[in-house]
Amino acid sequence: MTRAVVVGSGPNGLAAALTLAKAGVDVEVLEAADTPGGGTRSSELTLPGLVHDECSGFHPLAVDTPFSREFDLAAYGLTWRWPEIQYAHPLDDGRGAAALRSVEDTAALLGPDRRAWSLVFGPLTERFGSITADFLRPMVRVPSHPFALARFGVFAALPASVLVRAWSTPEARALYGGVAAHALRPLTTLMSSAIGVALATAAHAYGWPVAEGGSAAISRAMIRGLETLGGKVVTGVRVESLAQLDEADVVMLDVAPRAAVQIAGDAMPHAVRRALTRYRHGPGVFKIDFAIDGEVPWRHEPSRRAGTVHVIGDYDELAHAEREVARGHLPARPFVLVGQQYLADPTRATGSHRPLYAYAHVPAGFTGDATAQIEAQIERFAPGFRDRILARHVRTTQQLQQYNPNYVAGDVVTGANSARQLVFRPRPAFNPYAVGIPAVYLCSAATPPGAGAHGMCGYNAAQTALARL
Ligand SMILES: Cc1cc2nc3c(=O)[nH]c(=O)nc-3n(C[C@H](O)[C@H](O)[C@H](O)COP(=O)(O)OP(=O)(O)OC[C@H]3O[C@@H](n4cnc5c(N)ncnc54)[C@H](O)[C@@H]3O)c2cc1C
Repeated sequence: MTRAVVVGSGPNGLAAALTLAKAGVDVEVLEAADTPGGGTRSSELTLPGLVHDECSGFHPLAVDTPFSREFDLAAYGLTWRWPEIQYAHPLDDGRGAAALRSVEDTAALLGPDRRAWSLVFGPLTERFGSITADFLRPMVRVPSHPFALARFGVFAALPASVLVRAWSTPEARALYGGVAAHALRPLTTLMSSAIGVALATAAHAYGWPVAEGGSAAISRAMIRGLETLGGKVVTGVRVESLAQLDEADVVMLDVAPRAAVQIAGDAMPHAVRRALTRYRHGPGVFKIDFAIDGEVPWRHEPSRRAGTVHVIGDYDELAHAEREVARGHLPARPFVLVGQQYLADPTRATGSHRPLYAYAHVPAGFTGDATAQIEAQIERFAPGFRDRILARHVRTTQQLQQYNPNYVAGDVVTGANSARQLVFRPRPAFNPYAVGIPAVYLCSAATPPGAGAHGMCGYNAAQTALARL
């Protein structure tokens, strides 16, 4: 029987493991941490009974994919829960904007920008199923839906600072800017629209759901599925070298590219080793999980009903903050993402005590403390917030990397979302999962289609391995 070892139990490692196991391969997943799941772990970080998502919180791109269609994780206990409002962006004077499931309902709240929001996101939402079929795999392949993909590509190729001119009101500009900031790139760079356009469209097509009971439910369901197929996960084993895996016929590496070089570099062709060593990481995040009493008192009422709240002033303030972070400075007013998962999933809270998720974009490897800036940003739009804090759990960029080595210098998306790395990650190659060693593949978020707890990198990499087998 063919034997595979998967190094790392993040969603991509587990998706690769499931895909191989379903094809009859004997699969073992080796995980360095004591708890499996990588970026999908959740735990009681602050007070007993409050479940915090340690990394991934919202899963618009995991709901309907080739992987989710092949592996019904609901059968193994995964339940998606949707907030009433997918994401919101409060502004200083109590105004703001909110994204709902329906394009039309969202547009209707944007006054003079109603038509422009519908024109950009209406057709994309209608064809999003065809578009994701192409962008959830390597971009070097011939698209199966070229016309739908071309429409997406026209917007995705633009700098966010150009696409934002489609809207004139501060509300619509901020609503789009907040979602574009997920790229963790200066908004003037080429293709800085790509991730924002995908996530904004996904909010309309699929919503931004959370996993009931915490994101750990995603990896729990994957592990249950794997076990029913005969595979297993072993925790507390850090793989340092391919020599540890000499009995494996196939090796899948759910690790960052430079870690792959440390593990397997001696056997890699020089060009591959050099390309993976040169892979670039992006800025970091500084994360605080709060326990709060009651709710966040947002002045902008729809933000009280939103799963995700993008916390910064208008588009210009956001653009300035993202530019500063890329230059290596922490802005006085950074971009802060607040997650209110308990609105969609009350099982994570106890009584009036709730787990609140917040992180700021900070420079790569930032060594300072961004707690004051994060709390000041939230307090600015939700006066009285500080009085509701019961406890905090803080992770700096270095602590994030200690928690998960794939988050190099706090880069939680495992690689800079530059135009080059959006198209060719981790290196220009027809098979981006191959590392130049027979039967050894990279399958982490450093490969296409990139970051997110959707498992598609692992699924695609395993298909490649199976094709060779
Ligand atoms: C704060 C934060 C917020 C996020 N928000 C979202 C979100 O809302 N939605 C979303 O979809 N995504 C989000 N993400 C990103 C998402 O978590 C990642 O993109 C995703 O987890 C990547 O999956 P992966 O399988 O590639 O790697 P990971 O999930 O990073 O897992 C890699 C695993 O490999 C293990 N490992 C590494 N090296 C070794 C080794 N040598 N030996 C053994 N084991 C090893 C690690 O311990 C880890 O468990 C967020 C991440 C963070 C940190």
